[in-house]
Amino acid sequence: MSLAFSMPEPRMVHDPMLPERAVIEAIKPEAYGISTFFLRLADPAEAAAYAFLPGQFNMLYLPGAGEIAISVSSDPGEPRLLGHTVRYAGNVTRTLGRLKVGHGVGLRGPFGNPWPMGEAAGKDLVIVAGGIGLAPLRPVILSVLRRRDAYGRVVLLYGARTPADLLYTDEFARWQEGNIDVHVTVDLGDERWKGLVGVVPQLFYRIRVDPKRTLIMTCGPEIMMRFVIYEALARRIAKESIYLSMERNMKCAVGFCGHCQFGPTFICKQGPVLKYSSIEPFFGKEDF
Ligand SMILES: Cc1cc2nc3c(=O)[nH]c(=O)nc-3n(C[C@H](O)[C@H](O)[C@H](O)COP(=O)(O)OP(=O)(O)OC[C@H]3O[C@@H](n4cnc5c(N)ncnc54)[C@H](O)[C@@H]3O)c2cc1C
Repeated sequence: MSLAFSMPEPRMVHDPMLPERAVIEAIKPEAYGISTFFLRLADPAEAAAYAFLPGQFNMLYLPGAGEIAISVSSDPGEPRLLGHTVRYAGNVTRTLGRLKVGHGVGLRGPFGNPWPMGEAAGKDLVIVAGGIGLAPLRPVILSVLRRRDAYGRVVLLYGARTPADLLYTDEFARWQEGNIDVHVTVDLGDERWKGLVGVVPQLFYRIRVDPKRTLIMTCGPEIMMRFVIYEALARRIAKESIYLSMERNMKCAVGFCGHCQFGPTFICKQGPVLKYSSIEPFFGKEDF
């Protein structure tokens, strides 16, 4: 089954190397040191033309600070207001964190290979996210909710270090009501936490999967994704049905500079979403 009819074609701002001005329309604190910045392209024609697919990212440019890759975390069905969920990590992200509603930033994009929504249609989908890795998977969840009938069983396995690090907790009830089976865990609970304690891959022990009809999408720390792959393969899910989103330091985003090279793969162009079978020889290796 193809979902092409329900997905907009990605359309980027006119020149992939030239940032367009975008204005911060809202800022939503999500978790400790993490906020979602909702951006609107200032040029109405560019805003009307822009479209993205789940898993794609934009390059956000802050003059004087630098440019960073940030996944679009909002609904692809509403591409006029673009959510970017940012963890304050270093120079550029902290500078962004000091900006207020109404400030402008440069935006290039969207870039990258998206999650395989068409291939997932008609199958069971297991979405596995760790920490801020849920940001590039949120557009998948929102797309599934728009066309829930197009998928079989849909499960979200999500975890973060502590309850304070969990993202989008105010949306979990709506996702459950939309027939997405949500399982959440934390590495370390606190006195108010009544949920599960343990690492994300352990959540596989709470679900049953039919390996022939299951597709996995995962994003999170690489060590987590290694164990997710281990659990998936142990359940006889094919390597070709496991997709992961890889992050690498990125500069040009269009396959010129080589900063994001991973084995023979340029993460900015062939990724960030990659089929596990295509990177197996390099994945999890310190030296190759
Ligand atoms: C395709 C893609 C999508 C991304 N999506 C998001 C997102 O949705 N939200 C978000 O918060 N971040 C995301 N990132 C990571 C983000 O680009 C980096 O955190 C950012 O570049 C850090 O910039 P900085 O100047 O604030 O920190 P820096 O001062 O450059 O670095 C701070 C620390 O982060 C490390 N670092 C820098 N870049 C990366 C990177 N790409 N991956 C891992 N560690 C890095 C540095 O080694 C250093 O330890 C994404 C990266 C890629 C490649």
